[in-house]
Amino acid sequence: MNEQSTHPEYVWWKGGMRRWDECTVHVTELGWSTVGAVFEGIRAYTGDAPGELYVFRLREHLERLERSMRLVRFAIDHSVDELIAITLDLLRANDIREDTYIRPLAYAADTSGKRFSQLGTDGELLINTHPMASHLKSGMTQTAKVSSWRRISEDVMPPRIKNLSNYRNSQLASMEARGDGYDTAILLNHQGKVSEGPGACLMLVAGGKVITPDVGSGILESITRDALIQLAREVLGLEVIEREVDRTELYLADEVFTCGTAAEITPIVSIDKYQIGTGEIGAVTRALESVFADVLRGREARFAHWRAPVYAGTPAMT
Ligand SMILES: *Cc1c(COP(=O)(O)O)cnc(C)c1O
Repeated sequence: MNEQSTHPEYVWWKGGMRRWDECTVHVTELGWSTVGAVFEGIRAYTGDAPGELYVFRLREHLERLERSMRLVRFAIDHSVDELIAITLDLLRANDIREDTYIRPLAYAADTSGKRFSQLGTDGELLINTHPMASHLKSGMTQTAKVSSWRRISEDVMPPRIKNLSNYRNSQLASMEARGDGYDTAILLNHQGKVSEGPGACLMLVAGGKVITPDVGSGILESITRDALIQLAREVLGLEVIEREVDRTELYLADEVFTCGTAAEITPIVSIDKYQIGTGEIGAVTRALESVFADVLRGREARFAHWRAPVYAGTPAMT
């Protein structure tokens, strides 16, 4: 089923669980739920046993939502603990039994016709869910183009948070790349250093080490990136270096992949028509995909604290 043909029974909106078709907003209010919004993208994954569903790093995502809200000066009505409970309740109300994307969106409430820069507006919260299958270990690869668009910088917009307006920047880069016959884009920052892909961070493997642009490179503070850094170090025993990355390092890398909640791990096999490594998915990328999938689906006991079980009878979050 695609997004258009299906919808959940309930969404969380305006402080309560509401039936999907009751959640409407007047068209004149659209600006407030788009330009002025911040959001999260979270995934839930099924486990091996029937009835197992785990939300990946739910607390960290909701903490980042609160940081995003604080940065755009929204009042915060719910504690992170309350938001965790609300999200799990919503998944249960919708009886979700498949890999699912969860999207909380906070926007300025009841502001139609008022100025965009109004201070102290209440943040209205919407949480929606829709099915999203995993492509981890599917063999899917992408080609990439270094974009002529630069990644937004700290002095223009806040790159580290999921601020909806930021995404016009990556959308322009994606459209340019696709128009030129590539699958995706890689954006440089204003210093000409590698920043990230559209909605996904970037890692490369060179000389057996994993290298990723540091948080000062205009990247979003990605929870997947953080998880993969820990898994590469602690499970695969690899050295991981966070630093500025030059464009030419991309072309000479043995392996490149993007990572994020939506991207999971997406291998990049060519950039600006330079073949990356062998042109196939590399060994480190494969190993990380495998351990990451095990963590997401509840097969890796060491990282149980990253999984919030949705249904009773599954091992508790520690
Ligand atoms: C969401 C996002 C990422 C990935 O962050 P995760 O926390 O791993 O989902 C990377 N870059 C941008 C611009 C994003 O919006």
